[in-house]
Amino acid sequence: MNIGFIGLGIMGSPMAANLVKAGHAVTGYDISAERVEQLAGLGGKGATGVVDAVAGADVVITMLPDSPQVEEVAPLVVEYGKPNLLYVDMSTIKPETSRRVARQAAAAGVRALDAPVSGGERGAIDGTLSIMVGGEAEDVAAAGPVLGSLGTSVVHVGPAGAGQTVKAANQLVVGGVYGLVSEAIVLLEASGVDPAAGLDVLAAGLAGSRILELKRHTMVKREFAPGFRIDLHHKDMGIAVAAAREAGVSLPLTGQVAQLIAAARAQGHGSLDHSALLKVIERLNG
Ligand code: NAD
Repeated sequence: MNIGFIGLGIMGSPMAANLVKAGHAVTGYDISAERVEQLAGLGGKGATGVVDAVAGADVVITMLPDSPQVEEVAPLVVEYGKPNLLYVDMSTIKPETSRRVARQAAAAGVRALDAPVSGGERGAIDGTLSIMVGGEAEDVAAAGPVLGSLGTSVVHVGPAGAGQTVKAANQLVVGGVYGLVSEAIVLLEASGVDPAAGLDVLAAGLAGSRILELKRHTMVKREFAPGFRIDLHHKDMGIAVAAAREAGVSLPLTGQVAQLIAAARAQGHGSLDHSALLKVIERLNG
């Protein structure tokens, strides 16, 4: 298929590379020229702008930072996409924005899906992302072969916007687990127990998680190169808190974690990996 891919960042770049590997003709665009060149080096084609990436595409994927960027790019995709285009936005944004994009797309004869992902940079590189998809069942089925090149778990979770609501739930769990792993490290070290050995045991028991599996070594060594930036997780906690308000529910732990991530950002750690939440817990402890 001809695939237009917009947003070639930490996630988008390896995802576009996997689509090239799967045999698709990928035309990519990013506001960073360096990112576009990188895709060309991987066998894709660089585009000069959004319209150029969309022209002639059977499927357009966006992997942008946040709602404002999707609001800027989506109207161009809808306007310049060919009739019956499949437009899959894989960014993490507000459910409400995804619903609006889907309505505008449907009015123009474009089939839109929200398909945010979990699994991080590693999952993007390995093509093992978890993909939560909101939209019409037949459009999700049509996107299946493309999404199958990006992830191992592709689940249709409901109508437009539902993918984003599931992603908000995912992010509040991930943020909470990082907070608790950070507290475990601080407790172990303050008690004179080797945190690496302690976390090895935790990882093998009921407390085990993908976060402990993938991040415990770098957290203990205080290596916080992103990965997933604190700034983006701050955005996602805002989405989760707003979604809770819209749904009329109280999520007290989510509120607490959102404030700790806000503190990480306020302390200047916005461009570090979200595992740098450890720095906030350490600072609370002098
Ligand atoms: P990133 O900042 O590395 O990449 C975003 C890219 O979009 C950048 O290269 C940027 O130049 C480009 N961009 C911004 N505005 C643009 C525009 N108007 N037109 C074209 N390109 C534009 O971010 P990322 O880590 O790749 O994350 C992308 C999305 O995926 C975010 O919504 C994030 O929350 C989500 N996500 C990230 C991870 C992760 O581990 N990094 C995991 C799951 C989900």
